Amino acid sequence: MQIDLHSHSTASDGRLAPAELVRRAAQSGVDVLALTDHDGVAGLDEARQAAVEQDIRFINGIELSVSWNKRTIHIVGLNFDLDYAPLCAGIQSLQDFRKVRARNIADKLEQAGIKGAYEGAQSFSGGTMLGRMHFAQFLAAEGYAKNVSKVFKKYLVNNKPGHVNGEWASLNDAVSWITGSGGVAVIAHPARYKLTRTKLRQLIKDFVAAGGQAIEVVSGSHCINEVKTMACHADDFDLYASSGSDFHDPDFPWIKLGQLPDLPEKCKPVWDLFL
Ligand code: AMP
Ligand code: MN
Ligand code: MN
Ligand code: MN
Repeated sequence: MQIDLHSHSTASDGRLAPAELVRRAAQSGVDVLALTDHDGVAGLDEARQAAVEQDIRFINGIELSVSWNKRTIHIVGLNFDLDYAPLCAGIQSLQDFRKVRARNIADKLEQAGIKGAYEGAQSFSGGTMLGRMHFAQFLAAEGYAKNVSKVFKKYLVNNKPGHVNGEWASLNDAVSWITGSGGVAVIAHPARYKLTRTKLRQLIKDFVAAGGQAIEVVSGSHCINEVKTMACHADDFDLYASSGSDFHDPDFPWIKLGQLPDLPEKCKPVWDLFL
């Protein structure tokens, strides 16, 4: 069975509409898909409907932005109930912060001589969420760098002209919004944060203390050694293991929907909790 529990649509910074994403997943042989847009659930109804038509299993998902020890960490939520009031309020607060941050990013870019970035970024967004990817797409289209990755490096990361510090949700709040709505909280792409082993284990401890149950062992952004390392951490902390591509865009050919390696033998699959 092909399972992909991390993907993005135009409801955040992905390039495909939710229904298109589901059709592409079905064509790629995915049997179980979670849509996990950043800080929003606006794409879930459309995706669920399309999954019925495509006869694949759909899991509600979200990827929450969290500030932990002055770093930004992503927590994926899976299989939660959309009507849980604290989750809805939490999403609203993150979306409000995104609007303020987008204005701040545009102001900083303007100070660096780049005009019209707010409207430019908006023209690349599906309208429900504004993120750095939309600024990157605008800046790349305007020729400020060769591609989106280079734009990030030049403009949108720490110490660069368009960087704004994130004040996102706390780890405790984000995990409790997910678990409180009946879902499973998952540490997203743990190898991407470039934490030392000690700091990563501290993050996992804090996450477990908050009620988190799973970690992405297989991720589109993990190499084979990182998969092995994360499987060991999952084992040590008795966490369930998740698997997700983090697909954003068909034009990023290095990340494909669903085509992920199997979880290592010793892992407890997170989908045992809901399939
Ligand atoms: P945001 O949550 O708005 O700060 O944007 C984070 C998103 O930007 C990530 O989910 C990726 O989609 C994208 N991103 C972050 N860093 C990079 C990078 N170096 N190259 C390409 N995309 C990136
Ligand atoms: Mn993204
Ligand atoms: Mn992420
Ligand atoms: Mn993601």
